Amino acid sequence: MIGAKAYAVHSKEEKLGPWSFERREVGPKDVQIEILYCGVCHSDIHQARSEWGPARYPMVPGHEIVGRVTKVGADVTKFKEGDLAGIGCLVDSCHECENCKNGQEQFCKKGASATYNSVEQDKVTPTYGGYSDKIVTTESFVVKVSDKLPLSGVAPLLCAGITTYSPLRKWKIGKGHKVAVLGLGGLGHMAVKFAVSFGAEVTVLSTSANKEEDAKRLGAQKFVNTKNTDEVKACTSYFDFIVDTVSAPHDYTMYLRMLAVNGVQICVGIPPTPIEFMGFALIGGNRAITGSSIGGLPETQEMLDYCAEHNIVSDVEVINIAAINEAYDRILKSEVKYRFVIDLATL
Ligand code: NAP
Ligand code: ZN
Repeated sequence: MIGAKAYAVHSKEEKLGPWSFERREVGPKDVQIEILYCGVCHSDIHQARSEWGPARYPMVPGHEIVGRVTKVGADVTKFKEGDLAGIGCLVDSCHECENCKNGQEQFCKKGASATYNSVEQDKVTPTYGGYSDKIVTTESFVVKVSDKLPLSGVAPLLCAGITTYSPLRKWKIGKGHKVAVLGLGGLGHMAVKFAVSFGAEVTVLSTSANKEEDAKRLGAQKFVNTKNTDEVKACTSYFDFIVDTVSAPHDYTMYLRMLAVNGVQICVGIPPTPIEFMGFALIGGNRAITGSSIGGLPETQEMLDYCAEHNIVSDVEVINIAAINEAYDRILKSEVKYRFVIDLATL
């Protein structure tokens, strides 16, 4: 086994703190990575605090991992020592079911292994995430990272990036579409960057009036303060798509009414409580509400390549790992602009 250092949380009430544990030895198909940066996703908070149901402790959160390969197994073909590499929300799956074969490993019929708060394919060994100095992962779940982009800004692409890129691609969103991005946080600001890059007219729907300038800088044409009822009314039946990135309970009925006929609200945010809305908000306009879960490995690589080609990275605030609990508090106050990224050299 290989000794590893991390920040972990031991129960839903506790704060994160330093922890030592062991990673597996590098197997024939494994890659060992020295983690350089790891993004802080709101999903880390939901899970550290068991907001989506009982979690596994001790938990080492973190699924926006970028680092350098330090060792490869005998059968590894994609990587060599010294390469840059990334790991997102998944570290393994069955590789055999139709969803895995289609590159949608997140829907593996036997259950994918998430990067943390999950188990390896033996269904026993716990997985530990990226708030750590190193990780060992099967090479097919490791993606290639370009050296053209700043690595701290690349880390959030591994979750916030792919989670917003994937539904925009699936729904072929681009020129001629009016798209609203609901919530300007980690996922939201990436959704704005991608939708703008794909040619859509983008509006940010936000509860934070102080984010207007940033929304425009990111390329959005319009900004709506959703606490202002007149501004909300003016959006009635306007958008073709809403990309909903909100992490907390919110008024789905109000937002559905902003969709034009045949409009689609794509939910990527996962509030801890069930979603509720008035049926009439759907019926009046043949509107649809749908969801989207991260993205598979081939699409994650496609997204990273697209970002390298178009110079797209996340806007980040790099933090010392000792500031992680404070960072969680600031995320909950919608104060992050727009993703905290841990510099693992501080561990
Ligand atoms: P984040 O950085 O905290 O951003 C969420 C944003 O939602 C906030 O910045 C805020 O934007 C808005 N918001 C917060 N509370 C609100 C409320 N009560 N009403 C309306 N708006 C509110 O979080 P994130 O990391 O982007 O993650 C967002 C959600 O996506 C989380 O639930 C996360 O678990 C989920 N997620 C899903 C997937 C997936 O595969 N589907 C992947 C990753 C994350 P404003 O200040 O602009 O209002
Ligand atoms: Zn995430």
